[in-house]
Amino acid sequence: MPDAVPCNHCGTPFTPYSDRGTVQRFCSDRCRYAARVDTRFTPTGTTLTATCVECGQDFTYESATKPQTICSNRCARTRKAARARVRRARQTSNRQPSQPW
Ligand SMILES: [Zn+2]
Ligand SMILES: [Zn+2]
Repeated sequence: MPDAVPCNHCGTPFTPYSDRGTVQRFCSDRCRYAARVDTRFTPTGTTLTATCVECGQDFTYESATKPQTICSNRCARTRKAARARVRRARQTSNRQPSQPW
């Protein structure tokens, strides 16, 4: 028996159904639509708080078109470098078994 969860928009408890791994987060299409409109129209210049995905620190930023997940340019660079390293490592390990000798 699945548990009732509060709707992400209005907070009304409802029983979510899951559809191929996607779990329902809103009690109705109306709330889903309302929540989408809300996020789309966050006025630019609103100060928002988020947690940096790189260093884990909370930071504030002025809202723009996309939600920010990195606190600073420094963290952005660190993350980009780490990703490039992973990509390089994967390429090297893929290449090795196909060596002709
Ligand atoms: Zn709702
Ligand atoms: Zn950071």
